[in-house]
Amino acid sequence: MRHLFMAVLSLFSVAISAQTATYTTPFEENDQTTATYDEVVDFYKKLDLGYKQLTMSEAGNTDSGKPLHEVVVSKYAEFDPEKLRQQGKLILLINNAIHPGEPEGVDATMILCRDLLQRQELQNLLENIVVVIIPMYNIDGALNRGCCSRANQNGPESYGFRGNAQNLDLNRDFIKSDTKNARSFAKIFNKWQPDVFVDNHTSNGADYQYTMTMLATQPDKLGPVLGGYLRSTMMPNLYKQMAKRGQEMTPYVNEFKETPLDGISGFNDSPRYSSGYAALHHCIGFVPETHMLKPFPNRVKATIDFMVVLLEELSKTNKKIKELRKQAIKEAMRCEEMNLDWKMDDTQVDSIIFKGYEGKYKPSEVTGLDRLWYDRTAPFSRKIPYWNHFEPTVKVAKPKAYIIPQAYSAVVELLELNGVKFKRLTADAKPVVELYRIGKYETRQAYEGHYLHHNIQVEKETKNWAFHEGDYVALTDQPAVRFLMETIEPQAVDSYFAWNYFEGILGQKEYFSPYVFEDIAAQFLKENPSVKAELEAKRQADPEFAKSQWAQLYFVYTKTKYFEPTLNLYPVGRVMDLKRLPLD
Ligand SMILES: [Zn+2]
Repeated sequence: MRHLFMAVLSLFSVAISAQTATYTTPFEENDQTTATYDEVVDFYKKLDLGYKQLTMSEAGNTDSGKPLHEVVVSKYAEFDPEKLRQQGKLILLINNAIHPGEPEGVDATMILCRDLLQRQELQNLLENIVVVIIPMYNIDGALNRGCCSRANQNGPESYGFRGNAQNLDLNRDFIKSDTKNARSFAKIFNKWQPDVFVDNHTSNGADYQYTMTMLATQPDKLGPVLGGYLRSTMMPNLYKQMAKRGQEMTPYVNEFKETPLDGISGFNDSPRYSSGYAALHHCIGFVPETHMLKPFPNRVKATIDFMVVLLEELSKTNKKIKELRKQAIKEAMRCEEMNLDWKMDDTQVDSIIFKGYEGKYKPSEVTGLDRLWYDRTAPFSRKIPYWNHFEPTVKVAKPKAYIIPQAYSAVVELLELNGVKFKRLTADAKPVVELYRIGKYETRQAYEGHYLHHNIQVEKETKNWAFHEGDYVALTDQPAVRFLMETIEPQAVDSYFAWNYFEGILGQKEYFSPYVFEDIAAQFLKENPSVKAELEAKRQADPEFAKSQWAQLYFVYTKTKYFEPTLNLYPVGRVMDLKRLPLD
């Protein structure tokens, strides 16, 4: 009897709540959990089966061997990006679990997606917006699940690890693209060409009252038109609407000296990071960073609220944003110079209200030294300085085209993945080009699988230079010109040169035997008195040099015809005049 009764009861409850029960997320069943990879895929599969406005498909591989998924929510069930662009739809791309230990985006987006399909007032927001979702980007890290890798975080009970299967941080991999994840991401990004991008995270650092902190693309990097709109209209609207929902936000708490009272600064989101990568495509990026010390359910709620507030804002401004993006792309295509690196302008400081907790000091039980702690019984609301204006530090004149030797096909492949279009040389040619000689540079120790170069100095040489039939020519009057220049110009902070794609040019291939070269050098100095004078001056000035036979002979060697002309010569030609270049 009892069994029969239970069976009837459970059948009944299934019947009345079929819709919601089927689409309940693991987080909604236990708010201290975040969905696993399998649960995420199952959930979206069910939505895909249940609703014609949502589709999920596989979109390339990841280092885990499991496919990346792409979910699209489109009110009128049109899923072709080209057609949607023609219809003037704004594309919002949402990325989750790039850092799987920061998983609220995964659960928040599952809930948001279901609600977008089930709740009319939310669906109304999608009249002119299509939402593309990467439900779980770092699948590799998400499968490496544990309790404890984020030492200070307040839940969930278990979650994935930051590193991917190669132990790389995917939020540094957008340009160098060492991972299959990054290459699949670039395909998705360039297929959809999103207007707005959200990459959900959880912060570290100081304690304060806010659950949500916000990092957006540094506005100056989006240029005066698009960046100006983000700074003066879009961001203030988002802050205001979040506050109305009881989710007051603060700018991402970055680089304060000791506590936020000393002020916070904008984040220099170079292209290796998600929002910096988006900026190279003239796409507005948001990196919501919920506060790790707040309970997990509150963080999920704040993440949902932000995405809903953003959709509300975009539903009113979609036309404007698309128009401003078009202008920004046109501007990049016709500009005469491109910015390659930035620094904070500390002369331009704003003042914002910050709701924090008093930072206090007491002796540490561990070290005996004074330690910082935040007193939650002493909340405050005070004005603090906020630096969020950046200025370019490196600019370069835009050539008409770049010629990239086909030997560097790995670079060409990444550029093509990011929308850069190429022509080919139809014959061997020796055009006049500008070439860079790499001068001084510094190199960082092992970092994300590379030895990243920075503070790169170059000297320009103009000469006829030989290229081969089939070499790649990228014209700069194409929409992807910003991505092209900020990766192919070696001085750019995240250039392919900086990320070691051109290491061969830095190694000398030929030298000399000193005892043979002695006689050649002596004869050369007789014929070139100015070099002789230079050598003598250097000997006077530098006692170490004066003691070294090798250093002095090498000095003379570099002045002779025997010294190889390709050492440190960056092999990409800058074409200033397209005439007579044999192009297909
Ligand atoms: Zn993160």
